[in-house]
Amino acid sequence: MTRRISRKLRIGKVPVGGDAPIVVQSMTKTDTRDVPSTINQIKELEDCGCEIVRVAVPDKEAAESLATIKKRVSLPVVADIHFDYLLALAALKAGVDGLRLNPGNIGDKDQIARVVAAAKEREVPIRIGVNAGSLPPNFQPKAPLVRRMVNMALEQIKLMESLDFDLIKVSLKAFDVPTTIRTYQMIADKIPYPLHLGVTEAGLPRTGAVRSAIGIGVLLYQGIGDTIRVSLSAHPCEEVFVAYEILKSLGLRQRGSTLVSCPSCGRAEVDIIALAEAVSKRLEKLGKPVKVAVMGCVVNGPGEAKDADVGIACGKGKGAIFRKGKVVGTANDDSLLEALVAEIERF
Ligand code: SF4
Repeated sequence: MTRRISRKLRIGKVPVGGDAPIVVQSMTKTDTRDVPSTINQIKELEDCGCEIVRVAVPDKEAAESLATIKKRVSLPVVADIHFDYLLALAALKAGVDGLRLNPGNIGDKDQIARVVAAAKEREVPIRIGVNAGSLPPNFQPKAPLVRRMVNMALEQIKLMESLDFDLIKVSLKAFDVPTTIRTYQMIADKIPYPLHLGVTEAGLPRTGAVRSAIGIGVLLYQGIGDTIRVSLSAHPCEEVFVAYEILKSLGLRQRGSTLVSCPSCGRAEVDIIALAEAVSKRLEKLGKPVKVAVMGCVVNGPGEAKDADVGIACGKGKGAIFRKGKVVGTANDDSLLEALVAEIERF
């Protein structure tokens, strides 16, 4: 795939856009005013691979908490601002690395100009985050939704450019997947700025992961997108996990292991679902960048297992352990898991 060329910027120490890897971000779900809980969650996010964290700034106390939070975490922090430009100014003063503004609800141009001036002085990028659900109702009411979202973003970009500001990132999120895809496609060749991808309010982990994988995945496959956030009604590390799975599926990033397991069928000689689940848990703990295959019988098993770094192809009462296509041992029915894990550890 050919990637859309965007202008590189930095959120703290993390480059976004240009030739930088697609960046994974998430958002804390704690009350930002509860500083210890927010710091803990940011540290959890760092441990699970998140690269940029966004925090909600609903009021002045939350904005002021950012100064302490910033001092105690190493992930770049983006302040999420709605309605009140004074909160954006307070967040900048607290030292955040990025701002997300919703142009739909900070309408006043002079107020936006004050925020832009303060961000420019500190070289802090601003994401123009357009959401389908919060477009001002009087903004081009007769135009189709996709065009309204794109035009709203373009209008805000023009305003920021007129203020001589170009540290811009853009997102155009909708709940509806085709709308999300079309808005990003429409804006992609109109602006040079990095794009932050996401399907908003995607839902609980199972359905949300599918919706996000389709919305974000289609765009990434077309070379569109520089940073992604998967929105799930779940712990934010679930979002990070799904984000990496999307990137791994497209060969764009590598993190942790990849498990290839057959779906099982009437030919399976062992309980392949239980074995695959047990292997997956062990791989999570090992955190090794290794491709592992767990196959249920001799029909496809050896072929697929050969393709992996380490694999097992189960047969009647025993399994063959493969390493890079070569059989390196066999294990009995009762020691399949341990034999496979031992080989993974040796790899
Ligand atoms: S590898 Fe064997 S058990 Fe697994 S799905 Fe294929 S045929 Fe069925």
